[in-house]
Amino acid sequence: MYLLSRWTGLEVPAVYWAFATCCSGGVSFLVSLRLAWQGEQLRRLNAELEAVHVQLKHAAETDPLTGVLNRTAFLERLEPQHRSVGGWILVLDVDHFKSINDRYGHEVGDRALCKVAGVLRRSARTGDLIGRLGGEEFGIYLPGVGRGIAMQVAERMRSDMETASLSDPVAPGMTITVSIGLAAADRDVAIAESLRRADFAMYGAKRDGRNRVRVTV
Ligand code: GH3
Ligand code: MG
Ligand code: MG
Repeated sequence: MYLLSRWTGLEVPAVYWAFATCCSGGVSFLVSLRLAWQGEQLRRLNAELEAVHVQLKHAAETDPLTGVLNRTAFLERLEPQHRSVGGWILVLDVDHFKSINDRYGHEVGDRALCKVAGVLRRSARTGDLIGRLGGEEFGIYLPGVGRGIAMQVAERMRSDMETASLSDPVAPGMTITVSIGLAAADRDVAIAESLRRADFAMYGAKRDGRNRVRVTV
């Protein structure tokens, strides 16, 4: 308006000035409102994307049946921890699981696997890793513990499983027992080798009659 009045040499009445100021104020107010709204939309979209990302990561790492880590995620998380703090590793296999499937059907067999995972979750401590290595075999990593604690935890898991399956069976007459093998997850030993040793110990528990804990010597 000032430029206009200088350029034309015309006197611009005060009411025009007021009108022009209101108009430009109104336009910038609307533009600011629009920008604020778009900013809010962007923030909301970002939060939604982040939530979807978390969900996808969780789904990619989780065994869909039992809700514990899948094999890949278990090994990926185990690797750096075992290199820094060592610990012990347990391989747990459900006893005579094929006959559970044969007798009660696969659906009940699936429920039995969920029960096993539930017992493991309850028996584990914060920071322990639980993964389904495949079929009816689970891996448990106990970071930073020594042999004595590892033996106690394994024995507790074995007996918790037996007690849980007796006091609240998945199906009438069904008992679930597990055989557990343990090995040290020494920092200087490759994790595949520690797992192999725990697996070997687990087969020792099977050979000795099942429903027991064995450790590699
Ligand atoms: P053992 O005491 O020697 O371990 O005997 P087992 O019967 O448990 O072992 P075996 O390897 O003979 O059988 C494992 C069975 O587990 C066979 C397979 O069909 C079953 N299985 C593997 N994955 C699943 C699953 O996701 N759901 C169900 N229901 N069964 C499964
Ligand atoms: Mg088995
Ligand atoms: Mg097996």
